[in-house]
Order: sequence, then C-alpha cells, then structure tokens
Amino acid sequence: MRTVRARLTLWYTAVFGGLLLLLGGTAFVLLDRGLRTNLDDSLASVARAVAASSREAGGPDLADTLESMLGPAVAERFFQLLDPFGRPDPRLSLRGRWTFPLSSTALRNGEEGRETFESIRIPGPSGGDVRLLTLPVIEGGRLVHFVQVAGSLDRVDQARSRFLLVMLSLAPLALAGAALGGWFLAGRALSPVDAMVAAARRISAEDLSLRIATEDRDDELARLAEVLNDMLARLERSFTTARQFSADAAHELRTPLTILKGELEVALHTAALDGQGREMLESCLEEVDRLAALVEDLLFLARADADVVPFQREPVDLAGLAREVEPALHVLAERAGVDLSIHAAGPIVVKGSEPLLLRVLFNLAENGIKYAGGGQQVEIAVRGEGERALLEVRDSGPGIPSEERERIFDRFYRADPARERSGTGIGLPLVRSIVRLHGGEICVASEPGRGSCFQVRLPLADRLT
Ligand code: ADP
Repeated sequence: MRTVRARLTLWYTAVFGGLLLLLGGTAFVLLDRGLRTNLDDSLASVARAVAASSREAGGPDLADTLESMLGPAVAERFFQLLDPFGRPDPRLSLRGRWTFPLSSTALRNGEEGRETFESIRIPGPSGGDVRLLTLPVIEGGRLVHFVQVAGSLDRVDQARSRFLLVMLSLAPLALAGAALGGWFLAGRALSPVDAMVAAARRISAEDLSLRIATEDRDDELARLAEVLNDMLARLERSFTTARQFSADAAHELRTPLTILKGELEVALHTAALDGQGREMLESCLEEVDRLAALVEDLLFLARADADVVPFQREPVDLAGLAREVEPALHVLAERAGVDLSIHAAGPIVVKGSEPLLLRVLFNLAENGIKYAGGGQQVEIAVRGEGERALLEVRDSGPGIPSEERERIFDRFYRADPARERSGTGIGLPLVRSIVRLHGGEICVASEPGRGSCFQVRLPLADRLT
C-alpha cells in the first residue's frame, strides 16, 4: 500500500463497498416492508370478504362458500371464526383443523372494533411463520364474532432469501470491478505525476534550464508543475548569481595577486633581507602562488560552466602522458611511502588539450597517493576499451563512503575534513569539468576500508569525426 495509486484504489473500493452495503441494506428493508404490506393488504381484503359473506350466509353455508372459493387446503388451514370470547364458534365452524387462541391484544382491539395484525408461528411439521389478521364483525353496534385470516410468510422469506443470495453473489463481483476501475482511473489520473517525476529527475544542477512540461492543462497538476518551474527558475537564478559571483571574484583577484606576486619576487631579489625576513617573504610568495592557482582553477570552472573555455583539440597520447609524468609521480609516492605502479602500454590517443588532460591524470594520481597513505598501493592504468580510452587510478586506501561518492565532485567539498590532509576540494570538480569538456565521463567505485577506483573514459581520437 505504498503507492498513492494503491491507496486511492483501496479508498475507492472501500467507499464503493460502503455505498453498496447501504444501498443493498435499504433495498432489503424496503423489499421486506413492501412484501409484508402486500400480504397484509390481501389478508385485509380477504377478511372483509369473509366478514361480508358471514353476515349474509350463516354457519355451514359460509364454510361451503369459502371452501368452494379457495379450495379445502387453504380454507382449512388459514381461516377461523371465533365467538366474541375467542372460542371457536360451533355455529360458524369451518371444520378447520387449525385453531389458535385469540391473543389478548386482538381481543381488546376487537372489542374496540379495530383489526389486529400479528406474526405468529404455527407449531408442528406442517406449520411455519404466518401473518394473522383478526377482524371483528360488528352487527348493530355489537361484536358478533371474529374472522381470522392467516397468510403464510414463506413467500416473503423466500423473496428475502433470493434477494440476499443475489446481493451476496453480485457484491464481490461489483467490488472487484470497482477495484479494477479504481486502479485504472487512479493510474490515469496519476500518469502526469509520473511524467513530472521523470522530468524532474532529468533536471540536475548542471542543467537547471530544463522545465517540467504542463501540456496545456489547467488542473492541480499543472499548477504543481508551475510552482516547481517557478522554483527551478529561482534556483537557476541563484545558481547563476553564485557562479557569476565566483567568476567575478576570481577575475577581480587575479590582477592584485599577479601584482603581489611580482612585488614579492622583486623584494626577494632586491631588498636587503636578513634570514628571517627572507623566510617570511618566501612563505608569503608560496601562499600567493597557491592562491593564484586556486583563482585560476575557479576561473576555469566558471568558464567551463559558461561553456567558454578556450582550448585547442589536438591528438594526445594518454599512455605517453602517463609515462611522462611517471618519474614525478614516483617522487610524490616515495615521499608518501606509497607503492606506485603505472601500466600504460602503446599509444592511446584522444583528442584534447594536453595540459588539461595532464591535470586530470595528475590530480587523480595525487589524490590516490595523498588519501591512500603510507604502506598502501596506487595503480595507474591507461588502456583502450572498445571505442573509448580508459584511465584508471586505483588505490588501496580508506575508500569513500557511498553517501559521499557523488558529493566529492561538488566544489569545495572535502569528505572528512578532520583528516589532516592539505587540499582545497576543487580538484575533483575540475577533473570532472575537464573530462566533460572532452566528451568523456568520470565515475568512482569504492569500498570503504579497501580503497577507491576512479575511472575516466574518453572517446578515442580515431573514433571522433
Ligand atoms: P582535495 O583538494 O580535498 O583533495 P578533491 O576535490 O580532489 O579535493 O577531493 C575531494 C574529496 O574527495 C577529498 O577531500 C577526499 O575526502 C575525497 N577523495 C578524493 N580522492 C580520494 C581517494 N583516492 N581516496 C579517498 N578519498 C578521496
């Protein structure tokens, strides 16, 4: 019952079932009352006819008249004439086998000249539930006798049972039909929601310009789509502003940093400095260099966002590049106490910018060495994989928890900042940006405690048109 569709279907079926029960119950009660009223009416008209005949024909004549009218079976079973005290009147005997004492209510009502309807049970094997009408016959203002007419309730019972049977056998079918119809309708009503979910999934931080289609409707879902689209527009604006801000800030910082760097260099060469002063200036120069590099990276990211990175595509042998940087990486690895191995045979040529691809290779290798730590292994491999070049950097370090695997590509995100590692959190976003600029993709697989594996796939140069 997790989906809205299932819940709607359940509700629909429950409401339908409740209505069915209500309708069925009302119909049953009405049917029962109607049948009883019919029976009472017919009993009343027969009783009046008997009463009228009893005034005209007396005693045995009446019995004969009734018997010839209704047949002996009915006349014997369902008619009785009683004297004003409720005793079977011998003068008016119907030779009936059926005798039943007059109830006190009927006697009282009769004395007041009113008829009485009762439901009674005739005992015995041929008995059953009957409806009994007791009608007083009044002549000259005096109660002369009672006419009792009874009618079997079997027919009423049968009709009630038939109705119940039909209802009980049709109700499950109707409920199943309602559930099916409800499922179908809920599916139809919710299908735009599925479409909206699919559309919303396609929208990522990189592609906030996409919008959810409203398909010219003007219903609740269209309004929801509108609200979401407004929210997306606001998000897009704030993303653009933030990006613009970091691009502007980087741009503005560039010139003063260059001037600062130049002046520090001049000061280092020309000023008469003692050892401590020189050390301080050198440390400042180092920090300025770091800052300038960060500013360049930020500027690069801002340009990549705006799709205005100026770079020339030329054939670059990725395997050759790996072999080229091998000595420098070995120095880094040795310093960190990491066992580094590089497998890069044959030319694996892609089209792109050599310095940018070098950056990818270097950043990933540096991260591997940095985060794996002493005593661990880092393996770099470059090889072809179908129509793509694969650069793989695998380490046996601490790995990356699954919830952080996507976030490490966010700007300035650093997993576990408590770890004493130098870094800015800009390396992986930069790598991803460069890879995407080259029409490739990057992914990471990792098992916490057992290491990580970064894979970069780029289109091979000879496959590019
Ligand atoms: P940093 O400058 O912090 O290295 P990156 O963007 O290169 O920034 O990496 C972001 C975060 O991803 C790092 O802070 C680190 O927590 C995690 N990370 C990257 N590479 C690895 C790796 N090989 N092993 C474990 N964690 C890694």
